Amino acid sequence: MGKVYVVVGAGFRGYCDTLQLLQEPGAKIYMIDREPFFGGISYSAKLKGFSVDKGVHMFDGIPQALADNVTEIMEGKVRTIDFVSVSAFNGLRTDGFSLPDLASLPADTKARITAELQALSPNAGKGPAHRNLHELLEARYGATAGGIFAGIFKNLYNLDATEAQPDALSKTSLGRLKHLDDAEMIALKASDPFLDSVLAARRKALGKVDDFVSIYPDTGEAMRGWCVRAQKWLEDRGVTMCLGQGIQSIEAVGGKLRLKTEGHTIDADRIVWTNDNTQALASLLGFDFDTSTHVSGTPMLFATLITKAEHIKDFTYLQNFDPEGKTYRTASAGIYSGQVDANGNSFVTSECPTPIGSERWNNHTEAHHAIWRECKDLGIVSPDAVLADHAVMRLPSTFKVAKLGYDERIAAFQAEVAKRAPAVIFRDVKPFFRRDIYLDSFKVRDLVNA
Ligand SMILES: Cc1cc2nc3c(=O)[nH]c(=O)nc-3n(C[C@H](O)[C@H](O)[C@H](O)COP(=O)(O)OP(=O)(O)OC[C@H]3O[C@@H](n4cnc5c(N)ncnc54)[C@H](O)[C@@H]3O)c2cc1C
Repeated sequence: MGKVYVVVGAGFRGYCDTLQLLQEPGAKIYMIDREPFFGGISYSAKLKGFSVDKGVHMFDGIPQALADNVTEIMEGKVRTIDFVSVSAFNGLRTDGFSLPDLASLPADTKARITAELQALSPNAGKGPAHRNLHELLEARYGATAGGIFAGIFKNLYNLDATEAQPDALSKTSLGRLKHLDDAEMIALKASDPFLDSVLAARRKALGKVDDFVSIYPDTGEAMRGWCVRAQKWLEDRGVTMCLGQGIQSIEAVGGKLRLKTEGHTIDADRIVWTNDNTQALASLLGFDFDTSTHVSGTPMLFATLITKAEHIKDFTYLQNFDPEGKTYRTASAGIYSGQVDANGNSFVTSECPTPIGSERWNNHTEAHHAIWRECKDLGIVSPDAVLADHAVMRLPSTFKVAKLGYDERIAAFQAEVAKRAPAVIFRDVKPFFRRDIYLDSFKVRDLVNA
């Protein structure tokens, strides 16, 4: 007789942990989610007859073993994603690039950036740890470019870089600097190992650089296609889904943890908590704790803009880093998810960072005018494209960025959980990209057997 595991959270993190726990001999697994659907943030919305991902969601850069699993679940219906990205900054559009390209800055500013970078090189990696993201950006790119990147960060994430933990960098598109044309960048990178590690250049034919693959569901249902099939795949392997059910109580009974939802009473050997809702877990274990004050949620308006497929540029997405920009990442989501309706319409989606309470946030029903205009200006749709229909959602929390003090706060939380209920495993919510979440899930069998 194997052990009973409860996985709380039916998002991708819960999925990956469940995948590993299925390898435990005789394991009985329950998955609980307060939402009535499987997939968490990956579950596409139904909008205007289309299946629309809430942001750009893909299985990008994932290990082959995970790609094989996704392909098996999708019964082969996946397409390879060949990224065609564009970056925009300061009126310059750079094809084949997904980081800010500062090459349109005045020549004297670019010369200053180069000089500052070269001055950083001899002491790179020495000195005390960076106290915040702003310090890290300046240490990587110098005061001028670091300051510009900090401004971009503030625009996109609605948080001053001095208030963000340095490791926030890994979630952003600010991980490398390009401020000259390609040939000059290649030469500058080659001149010094430090510069090689912080600068970016586009190369004509890159070829395959690692063993990771990028795929996307190919059933015309966007990521929802994977969500519904993954749920069934797990159920076919004996996992009991308890969706749309809040947890009412957790108590110790006879060496187990008795967990009650509206529909189930489960005596669990281990509860694996795979979401960042510290407040809910604390309250179930009888204490008060909240880490949400140490997290910045990146509120966004999320626009779905419907127009004729033939008027949408054939690309994956454009990232707009312009300080005056209203849109950030705009994707030809309808095209790459294979959704064109009987009238020849498809759609683009646009993630538009917008502070809660700002004029645009409050008047979001009118925001599509400016967003559509910007899509035309950026060449995402052709100049004669007509907006056939649209939907603009307010998403109060999208990319979660750790503010200063988050690591200490979460460590204190984990210590308290371990003291009160050692059989509850609060999973690390730091790994962000699907690749990293999958790789981190390899730990879960050791954790439940510890
Ligand atoms: C806009 C956006 C775009 C992204 N794009 C990509 C991308 O292209 N590639 C990539 O690799 N990564 C991407 N990411 C990151 C990746 O999508 C996420 O890190 C990952 O999907 C998160 O999975 P999760 O299970 O932790 O969270 P979620 O998907 O949010 O799932 C958490 C689940 O826990 C449930 N839950 C919470 N509290 C409770 C409770 N008390 N009781 C029961 N259930 C509860 C929630 O209902 C939810 O279903 C993106 C992230 C965002 C925000």
